[in-house]
Amino acid sequence: ASGKGGVGKSTTSCNLALGFAALGLKAGILDADIYGPSLPKLFGLRGKPRQVGPRMLEPLERFGVQVMSIGFVVEEDSAMIWRGAMVISAITQLLREVAWKDLDILVVDLPPGTGDAQLTMAQQAPLAGAVIVSTPQDIALIDARRGIAMFEKVNIPLLGLIENMSSFCCPACQNVTPIFGHGGARQEAETRGIPYLGEVPLDMKIRQTSDDGRPIVATEPDSIHARHYIEIARNIWATIV
Ligand code: ADP
Repeated sequence: ASGKGGVGKSTTSCNLALGFAALGLKAGILDADIYGPSLPKLFGLRGKPRQVGPRMLEPLERFGVQVMSIGFVVEEDSAMIWRGAMVISAITQLLREVAWKDLDILVVDLPPGTGDAQLTMAQQAPLAGAVIVSTPQDIALIDARRGIAMFEKVNIPLLGLIENMSSFCCPACQNVTPIFGHGGARQEAETRGIPYLGEVPLDMKIRQTSDDGRPIVATEPDSIHARHYIEIARNIWATIV
């Protein structure tokens, strides 16, 4: 989850799901970002899920991860205008009517903020916990705090905070610049007594591979950035088993 949009929540979710798969786990990812599903693009997936039996949908599969997104079943723009009741019903369907195969772990990419989708998820699914993605600067952290408060209120364990776009290493001069500051999420985690799961730098490679539907953990698993994600996945797995 994240407090606000654009902080890299979907990119992180996608690479974490691939990170769990890299650890040898059977991983799935559910795109519950009803208003802006990005997993079809991130995984380079098109096409409709197959129906099995009267109601169930089969997830699509890519890079060894099972993927289900509202983006596979509705036109890209139509969900944008859904009202609360429709969002709740769509999330409930995504939770109950997907034929996942033998999962060890399911990553859920929530919409930003603390609305109906988050509450439905928190109330209807036995969540192992929430991971909050934030950029380091104050403005993003203020929103992240709201997310933290919501999960605390509905008794979902907070597995930790990830600082995304933590620093930028200039490819030309190798200087490291903290564009959005650095260490804000770690400090926030410490202040609130929540585990700090790690940081991911701002890097063009991460953006490019995401946009190309070839996420970095799947296509360059030995790169430094992929190793960051895999390490964070390992941290998360260690806290939930
Ligand atoms: P959100 O799900 O929070 O709205 P996205 O995952 O869609 O955010 O990311 C927003 C944009 O930032 C995308 O273009 C994505 O490729 C880019 N991005 C995310 N994380 C990073 C990163 N660590 N380095 C570079 N670009 C990133």
